[in-house]
Order: sequence, then structure tokens, then C-alpha cells
Amino acid sequence: MGLLGIYNVPNVSTALYYGIHNLQHRGQEGAGMATFDENGKCLRHRGLGLVDSIFDAKSISELKGSIGMATVRYANIANSGLDTVQPLFFRHSSGDFVVAGDGCLVNTKPIFESLEDMGNVFQTGLDSELFAHLIKKRKSEDRIENIINALRGLEGGFTFLVMTKNRLYACRDKNGIKPLALGKLGDGYVVSSESCAFEIMGAKFVRDIEPGEILCIDNKGLRSNFYSEEKRHCMCGMEFIYLARPDSDIDGCNVHAYRMESGRRLARLWPVEADIVVGVPESSLSAAMGYSEESGIPYEMGLVKHKYMGRTFIQPEQQLREMGVKLKLSPVHSILKGKRVVLVDDSIVRGTTSLKIVKLLREAGATEVHVRIASPMMKYPCYYGVDTSTPEELLCSNRTLEEACKMLGADSLGYMTPEASRESTFGCAELCLACFTGEYPSGDIKCGKCNF
Ligand code: SF4
Repeated sequence: MGLLGIYNVPNVSTALYYGIHNLQHRGQEGAGMATFDENGKCLRHRGLGLVDSIFDAKSISELKGSIGMATVRYANIANSGLDTVQPLFFRHSSGDFVVAGDGCLVNTKPIFESLEDMGNVFQTGLDSELFAHLIKKRKSEDRIENIINALRGLEGGFTFLVMTKNRLYACRDKNGIKPLALGKLGDGYVVSSESCAFEIMGAKFVRDIEPGEILCIDNKGLRSNFYSEEKRHCMCGMEFIYLARPDSDIDGCNVHAYRMESGRRLARLWPVEADIVVGVPESSLSAAMGYSEESGIPYEMGLVKHKYMGRTFIQPEQQLREMGVKLKLSPVHSILKGKRVVLVDDSIVRGTTSLKIVKLLREAGATEVHVRIASPMMKYPCYYGVDTSTPEELLCSNRTLEEACKMLGADSLGYMTPEASRESTFGCAELCLACFTGEYPSGDIKCGKCNF
């Protein structure tokens, strides 16, 4: 999911439209936008598909106001369809409000049950709907206090944006698993899942929202509160490895710089004699450059990506994923023919994509294919909103390195170590690597189903 919130910017929907374009890589299933106009009326437009296919000049011009929120959504199999496209809108006697979230709560079951026992009913079952109910369960006049109390009962990796007609709240979980950045735009502010949304709208990066922070933005400026004392920073490693855009900075580390460094370390860990280094576009190109720089083996564009296709492991169903890889990559025969290739990829989840790419390279004339993965072996599921699927489906959950290599049809296979992945942040960010190590930031509380 990609979240964007803007406070005090005239024609906010135009800025939101440009900004959410730059978050499109975080989800292609749907997008939504909500604003409050000058009379305090909430206006909303949502749809399924890419941002461009959902919004046009008419819908953007109808979303009036200077405060607004937008999202892009990727679906999991449990939740898809228009109802689940955020932001969600809620009516309340104390004032209408809008909520959107990224990530996943891991302790929702007992909370949903207790709210249902109290007579609450739910339309979507999304975590952000649950969060809205929890905020309104508290009776304080002070909305910040209500939000703090709601967050105290929640575990998982998440960011939430809450918007009223004159205020924007930005919340990040106490482990800082999901990213959230603050920018300045004219006299207003922008909050975004990634800082890459700022540049296109002319906003300047200010800082990251801190783990456990609730930032309130209104006509008094910025006010910061924290809902938890137990802060342990564990930023999602997969954001650096695969999910985020290379021009984003997260917790003080640029994503491209991280990937370059992981490629250099990968070359030191797994050297091989070869003629060219080829990266799997787009998210592996920086790591491939790093591998090439460190090894001295020339970097070549042996694979070309068809633009405008969705990311393979974000597409929810296996059949779609399998079709996706055929449609989206083409081998460059003249570059690959007769070459020993180091193929650098960011990660392997199920192995379906890698298997097909190795085959594509061989069919295009590569004499050897040495696969190098710029992350550790993925052995465990993610409970914090990244659809890495079940352990049975993961290539490495029950296979040795040699077995995985054989499955892929590669000549050799090498992965990063968790230590090398951590060190690739240059000491800027602490990482969650739970899908590689099984050490979850939320400890034993990890059995939720992803509901964003
Ligand atoms: S388990 Fe993996 S995908 Fe999930 S938050 Fe941690 S690093 Fe990210």
C-alpha cells in the first residue's frame, strides 16, 4: 500500500494526484482519494486499476479543498474489490473523518470479536476500519488521546493516516516496520509512505515519522506524541531490498545506495568467473551495478522490462503471477549469446519468476547462469502486510542452497547473509529481516491475517 496525506495546500487533489503517481509501484489494484472542502464536506473518489485509469481532470477538479489523502492499493486474496480501496470514510456526531493504513496488524482477531460483542458491525473488515472503531470507542474530547489509546492495543507493522476537516494525523508503529516520511510543501505539509512522492509535487523532505509517533498537523503547526515507550526500530528490510523506489530515502538511508552496497557485498560473498552481470529490472538493477563494480565484471542490459506491467509478486493469484513474468521481461539475445552470465535478483519468494528468467537467458544463448540474490534466503512468511505467502510456497523454506539451485536450473546460486543485509544500510537503519531469520519484531504475536 502507498499512503499520501497533504495539509494546507490549495487544490490539494492536483498535488495528491501527482504524488500518488510516484507511489504507484506500491500497489496497482486500486487507488482512492478523499478531501474535505471549505464547508467541511468530505469528497471521495475511488476505483480499481492504475491511478491514471481512475482519475481524470473532472474527478480531480471535483475533489476540492486544501486537505486530502490518497492511497494506492495492492490486494491480497483475502481482501480485494472496490470496498477495500482506501481511504475509508466514517460519519460521527463529533465530526466526519477518514482513515487509511499500510501494513498489517497481528492481533486483530480478539479485538474484532470484542467489538462485535459490543454491537459494532463492520463493512470491510480492514485493519483501518477496526482502527476507526477503536478511536471512536474512546470518549475523550481530545482526539490525540483517543488515537494514542487505540494504538496502544495494536501490534504489528503499520502506518495510519487519519484526516478530519481541519487536521491530519500520521501514525507509525512502535517498531517503525513500515516507512512514513514528512515533507514541506509551500505553507503546508505532506506525509507519504515514501519520500519519492515529494519531488514531483515540489515538496521538500523534512524527516521520517519516528517509530511509535503520532504527528498531528493543523493550523497550530506540528505536534508530536508517542503511544509507546518500548520503541525498537525494525524497518522492513524488504522495503530496501525490493518494495521501495530507488530515489526514496528511508530512515536516513537512500534505497539505491542500499541496493548498490548489497550488490558489492554479494560480490565479495559469492565471487564467480563470468563475462557479464545482468540485473532483473527494475528493483535489482542497483544491486547488479554494485556486483559489477565490486567484481569488475561488466554490467550489461541483458533483460528489458515491458513498462506498465504490474510487479509479479504483488499480483495476488499464482496464475496471474506466472503469466506476468512471460509478458514483462524480454532477453536481449545479442548481449546474452555465448556469455557466462551473473544474474542478480533482489529476492526469491516462490522461485517461479527466477526459474523462468534462468530459462529465458539460456534460450537466448547464455552458456552459464550464476544466480546471485541480494537478500538472504526467504524461509518464513511476513505477518506485517507483505504478501510473501505461506512457508510451503517459499522456495527456500525447506530446501538447501543446492536443492534451490537445482530447482532454478542455475549453474550456481548465492544469497546474502542477514549480517550483510543489515550492514548495507551503512548503519543508518535497523532492519526487520523476519521473513529471512524467523525473528519477528512482535515476538510471538504473529498470527494475524493481513487485513489492509
Ligand atoms: S517479515 Fe520481511 S517483508 Fe515482513 S516486514 Fe519483516 S522484512 Fe519486511
